Amino acid sequence: MAKVVIVGSYVVDLMSRTPHMPKAGETVLGGPFSMGPGGKGSNQAVSAARQGADVTMVTKVGNDSFGDDAMANFKKEGIDKTHVTRHTNAATGTALIAVDDRGENMIIVSPGACGQITKEDVLAAEQAFQEADIVLVQLETAMEAVEQAITLAKKYAKPIVLNPAPFQETSDRLLADITYVTPNETEASLMTGIEVTDQQTAQAAAQKLIEKGIDTVIITLGKQGCFVYDGTDEGWIASGFDVDVADTTGAGDAFNGAFATFLASGIKLEEAVVRANAVAALSVTKAGTAKSMPYKHEVDTFIS
Ligand code: ATP
Repeated sequence: MAKVVIVGSYVVDLMSRTPHMPKAGETVLGGPFSMGPGGKGSNQAVSAARQGADVTMVTKVGNDSFGDDAMANFKKEGIDKTHVTRHTNAATGTALIAVDDRGENMIIVSPGACGQITKEDVLAAEQAFQEADIVLVQLETAMEAVEQAITLAKKYAKPIVLNPAPFQETSDRLLADITYVTPNETEASLMTGIEVTDQQTAQAAAQKLIEKGIDTVIITLGKQGCFVYDGTDEGWIASGFDVDVADTTGAGDAFNGAFATFLASGIKLEEAVVRANAVAALSVTKAGTAKSMPYKHEVDTFIS
């Protein structure tokens, strides 16, 4: 079984429908409310686990009922939660999401406990890094946790996937140790100063990232799929799959969790990106983030 270590965020998504967004001081009588597990780290862990990976999650939740829900959810998904720690003071992270009748949203993310993952929390999982086939990180947690994860991956010569989302400034020293980086178009533009709008600009941005020492750049392009570049030729586009879209939130997370899993299973890059596109395409056919992640058998049927 492919062993994937993920260092990242967990937040509870708390979503209310509303006829219109409230103005300052206004109270609106909203529509239906729903809540569920979220956070880029946790969503990517669910995607990886559903593609058959043996996932170890490193994150932090509060000592509260949302933290209990997080633990139950990791258990339900078969994700190893040995290194999911409970913060004694900070609350479990939350995302307050309002969606109005036009489909516009407003979101307030309070990272809470998962914004305070320390170097020591990551170091406590050292054995998991030693046993891992691949390490996957995002930028939704404290940078010291991301840096420690990269240091440990390097120590044990494990490939590392950095999904640079949400965008945060990263040092060139940190980027130099990354095996695969997976920005979307916006993140690729912010990281390089080159506005990514087509294959040519994607290649120019990817080249800039390769020059920082990253081995392979994969820029996700929404429904078009992704651009793949390792600096040796002109790069190529792995086309996306044409599906009926219900909700694209979490598409990037579906892609990253699956991509890391496929590489960890020994699948070659060329095939891993195609399969990851398929996983992400299936995720956009359903509403929600974590709950929209497809299972392996669904992906096998879809692409056969
Ligand atoms: P999000 O923020 O919505 O989670 P993202 O901006 O991080 O996503 P995208 O580049 O939009 O990332 O999408 C990631 C991957 O999801 C794409 O590479 C593609 O494989 C798939 N995808 C996204 N949108 C669609 C779509 N409309 N149809 C099919 N596949 C899609």
